[in-house]
Amino acid sequence: MITRFISDLHLEEARPDITDAFLAFLKEKAMGIDALYILGDFFEAWIGDDEKTPLQNQVAQALHEVSDSGTALYLMHGNRDFLIGEDYSRRCGATLLPDPTVVDLYGTPTLLMHGDSLCTADEEYQKFRASMRNNQWQQMFLQRPLADRQMVARQLREISMAKNQGKAETIMDVTPEEVVREMEEHGVQRMIHGHTHRPASHQLEANGAPATRIVLGDWAENVWWLDVSPDHEPALKKQPL
Ligand code: MN
Repeated sequence: MITRFISDLHLEEARPDITDAFLAFLKEKAMGIDALYILGDFFEAWIGDDEKTPLQNQVAQALHEVSDSGTALYLMHGNRDFLIGEDYSRRCGATLLPDPTVVDLYGTPTLLMHGDSLCTADEEYQKFRASMRNNQWQQMFLQRPLADRQMVARQLREISMAKNQGKAETIMDVTPEEVVREMEEHGVQRMIHGHTHRPASHQLEANGAPATRIVLGDWAENVWWLDVSPDHEPALKKQPL
């Protein structure tokens, strides 16, 4: 019995090595397991399920084979791919999960998040996030022609890169108090998230008891995943890309 977690692959045409590593990961480590959770920033960018690029199609097909093997598949939005919709999820054989979601992992309630909402010190980003997650804005955006959306996505990416260059390291990480607040709000002693690209397992206190926050790794240089099983402590693993 095993459940695996990954996030922050940032799949894109410019990084065929990551796509290859992902397809190999699915074959070797995702077939016939209990579940595979992909906790956001699966794709570097997403402007609507109607884009249907060869990369998106290839990934959907490979995921569907995993789903057909009996593995339950779950997708959560990241800050890059928050426009992934029900249509693409269906093509993957996956269920789209809201952020945050609490799941029972072999008896341990666990809070799953992408992680960007925990970075409250970056007020500018949180404002941007709030407007991007607005349902009305999203519906309007998705109705624009594909070419328009591709242009807007390129512009947003350039703005984001320029802004992040000037930001202090700590601002880009989670706010410890926000982690505790979320864990207490959901009454859990374990949290799993991605986003920060700082893979680690942190011990803390929440609800007046020991708690654990596990951060998944990004795939820029290594294949990172988390194994959760009934008999062992959750284990972060990595392999060179
Ligand atoms: Mn992210």
